[in-house]
Amino acid sequence: MASRPARGTVEVICGCMFAGKTVELLRRLRACPEGQVRAFKHRRDDRYSETDIVSHNGDRFPARLVTKAGEILQHVQGHEALIGIDEGHFYDASLPDVCRQLAAGGAEVVVTTLDPDSWGRPFAHIEQLKAVADRVTKMWAACAVCGHPADCNQRTTPIQDGNIVGGPEAFEPRCRAHWAAPPEPHIA
Ligand SMILES: [Zn+2]
Repeated sequence: MASRPARGTVEVICGCMFAGKTVELLRRLRACPEGQVRAFKHRRDDRYSETDIVSHNGDRFPARLVTKAGEILQHVQGHEALIGIDEGHFYDASLPDVCRQLAAGGAEVVVTTLDPDSWGRPFAHIEQLKAVADRVTKMWAACAVCGHPADCNQRTTPIQDGNIVGGPEAFEPRCRAHWAAPPEPHIA
């Protein structure tokens, strides 16, 4: 029987903050043999480190900083078994097509992303990414009020001058009963 060319996969790990998405990504990255794995983080994500993907619990993995999804294609060599992309919501509209191309090259592509946003709305490019994904894994946090499963981000500080500023300390996970949209106009 003729061997079929390797076909990769796209997996989206989504949920609210503090759901353990990055912890799960780091676990996958670490389980992959060195030299067959590559990780990317967006330049906007400078909360803990400019060179590593870092989880809230301080675990980390070296990553390449990129500004646009298309840059990822320039930094893969084609032999990677696993490509990890953290905080997919920071990327541009080309992310779904970039992930599709990486998977077509045979890689297992794992993308973490906030989903939904702080207003409870979907990110358009993440909806498209989920549509091309082979697997969508939703992770849950514990509601900061009642402890029940939470999939919403509650902003606990005001938005300043139309900018969403502040790190994780500005948000807490809430269940749908304890979540309310921020009063400020929606920022896409
Ligand atoms: Zn609750």
